Amino acid sequence: MSHHQHVKYLLIGGGLTSSSAAHAIRSHDREGAIQLIGQEPTRPYHRAPLSRAFLRGSVSREKLFTDYVDWFRENRIDLHTGVRAVQLDARRKCVSLDNGDEISFEKLLIATGASPKHLSLPGSSLANVHYLRNLGDGDRLHHAIEQARKEGRPFQSSSGSIASRGAVTVIGGGLLGVELAATLTGLGLAVHLVVAGPYLWKKFAGESVGKFLTRYLEQHHIKVILNTEAKSLEGDGRVQRVVLSDGRIIPCDFVVAAIGVLPNKDLLRGTPISGERAILVDEHCRTSVPDIYAAGDCAAMFDRLSGKHRQLDQWDSAIATGTLAGHHMAGAKMIFKGISHFTSEVFDLRLSVWGEARHVDHHILRGLPTSETPDLIEFGVAADGRIAQVLALNHGTQDETLQELVRQRFNVIGNEDQLRDPQMKFDALLQSPPSGTPGGGD
Ligand SMILES: Cc1cc2nc3c(=O)[nH]c(=O)nc-3n(C[C@H](O)[C@H](O)[C@H](O)COP(=O)(O)OP(=O)(O)OC[C@H]3O[C@@H](n4cnc5c(N)ncnc54)[C@H](O)[C@@H]3O)c2cc1C
Repeated sequence: MSHHQHVKYLLIGGGLTSSSAAHAIRSHDREGAIQLIGQEPTRPYHRAPLSRAFLRGSVSREKLFTDYVDWFRENRIDLHTGVRAVQLDARRKCVSLDNGDEISFEKLLIATGASPKHLSLPGSSLANVHYLRNLGDGDRLHHAIEQARKEGRPFQSSSGSIASRGAVTVIGGGLLGVELAATLTGLGLAVHLVVAGPYLWKKFAGESVGKFLTRYLEQHHIKVILNTEAKSLEGDGRVQRVVLSDGRIIPCDFVVAAIGVLPNKDLLRGTPISGERAILVDEHCRTSVPDIYAAGDCAAMFDRLSGKHRQLDQWDSAIATGTLAGHHMAGAKMIFKGISHFTSEVFDLRLSVWGEARHVDHHILRGLPTSETPDLIEFGVAADGRIAQVLALNHGTQDETLQELVRQRFNVIGNEDQLRDPQMKFDALLQSPPSGTPGGGD
């Protein structure tokens, strides 16, 4: 029998964004009924460790959750997992679930996240073609790794002395593809990394960084194949070979594809809520329909600086925009000052990126990366001469200042040599605008 319920706050999506919103709402409103609906069987968790510590087996499932098990009950948040919201009636302010229930709301947050883009080529539905977005995917990948290590293709290990087993082809040279290639290598598998573009991390890094990373991965025995696409996957029921666009054939035990994500915006169907690739929201996470908010990976937020919407599909942004939406839903005011920021780990490399790659016109590089000292900073400069993005490898100590250079859209004109100089302290730059450019740091 289906039920109808009414709540003050309805949060759709069981991820980090919804859990951040729940915290923010409760910090203002101790009483209003909150219901959180998530289609996965578990309470919200952090996804970033899935491609690293979780796959390596060095972090337990329990450590991934955003909140301890009783937090939702203690804060009177009605958590429903394993249920999917299937329809939104924006006029009646009501959401239907796949179990037949209906929930009406005063304020709604859509925080449905994103889903991996799937390969669309012959053989892509064969068994053992994997994607990684959730714990279920992580468990299946674990199983594929174990199988390949036991029964997979034999190969000579890097030293040439030990015969190992298990070969994987990773498709995609972005953040996730590179992390997966490193983790799977660390687990003793032979890894091919197939990349459509001319260098790795092309979406957010310059050519020098991308090429350095290729050499770095190759030194760690990953076979990087650039400028090449997978044309088809072949095998007897399960994938056994990847056929490349240049005709090469790579034998493997399984494939992992990391070719990007698509925001989950199905709930917009039949509603007047504005959406393009993602759900469009203003600087307060409000959609075009009153009392309906969206945040996290499913949303694109209006950016006053560029006059455009920008997607904030990272861990930091899930917390920041979820919190922002929660504050506004509870009637509090909060200004979003965040800039895009993400991190990654690849063997011993620690990557941090602040800002927006899509505004970058050219790069200024500080430091010459080598495998022994892979420290560098790459400044992404916009056409107007101001810093749009900073990418840092192994530069943990100056994070605050690097972030400030992006936040202030620091004017590099006249400062190029100092930016290239590894001895130069950025604090000094921020304090002294170059002569002839008043307000160089504004
Ligand atoms: C393997 C991996 C590694 C990552 N590494 C990093 C990293 O190093 N750094 C970084 O900054 N970011 C990283 N990210 C990205 C980061 O995890 C996301 O930005 C963050 O999870 C977004 O949170 P979210 O709550 O908006 O969406 P999600 O985490 O996707 O959560 C949305 C939830 O809503 C559910 N849902 C969808 N539709 C419905 C519906 N109709 N009804 C009910 N539930 C629904 C989904 O199943 C999902 O559980 C990584 C992501 C992955 C997958």
